[in-house]
Amino acid sequence: MTLKSHIPYKRVLLKLTGERLGGINGQGIDFKAIDDVTRKILLIRKDLKTEFAIVVGAGNLFRGRQARGTNVDRASADYIGMLGTVMNALALREALERITGNDIRVMSTLLMPSVTEPFIRRKALYHLKKTGFIILAGGTGNPFFTTDSAAALRACELKCDVILKGSTVDGIYNKDPRVHSDAIRYTRLKYQDALERGLNIMDKTAFALCQTEKIPVIVFDAHDIRIVKDILTGKEIGTLVTE
Ligand code: UDP
Repeated sequence: MTLKSHIPYKRVLLKLTGERLGGINGQGIDFKAIDDVTRKILLIRKDLKTEFAIVVGAGNLFRGRQARGTNVDRASADYIGMLGTVMNALALREALERITGNDIRVMSTLLMPSVTEPFIRRKALYHLKKTGFIILAGGTGNPFFTTDSAAALRACELKCDVILKGSTVDGIYNKDPRVHSDAIRYTRLKYQDALERGLNIMDKTAFALCQTEKIPVIVFDAHDIRIVKDILTGKEIGTLVTE
């Protein structure tokens, strides 16, 4: 049993890639997958009383970079990606509300008053404390960024103890483990070392912000979100990036 007072991460920024909300090959919106993620997160909330600020991506629907190499305008493509994060956020909220019976807020940087509310820091903190959850959609609201930047920004603003970045691999490697069978996973890394080694953890702006604000980042395999409980109770899982 873990003593709650020993849990260092009480408020976490969970960056959920859209792929985790998709079906086969992480594509589309899969309500079964969303229910599964939701129930697992709720169990962790119940056991550890962790507060979750969840930044959702849209990799299951569309990423602006898919338009690279075409004559499609990058900013327009990125806005389509940002809209995808709103769809995912609404699907996640539906599951959270249905299962808990609570009123869960989606705050978006793209203004859509009939389905979301704007991101207001003080309101976000209020709902986070009240229900344990806040879902953040629309990324930063700016093209040329990703939801990793939004995760870093919101983690700073909401004073989260850590950013948990769910990935399709189980941490940070010295080279791509999907290509190189001899790739080695780091268990701990310093921000500076990660930068010097050119490791591709999140976009550089986001990473620099985490470094300046000293927010630890843990990269883990998001296939089974139950692993988050192990991380929060102090098990060395994935890769921890700190000062
Ligand atoms: N996006 C953007 N600005 C932001 C956040 C997201 O332009 O601040 C766009 C961008 O095109 C990105 C897409 O939305 O590719 C989906 O976000 P992301 O790629 O981070 O999703 P994930 O990989 O986490 O599923």
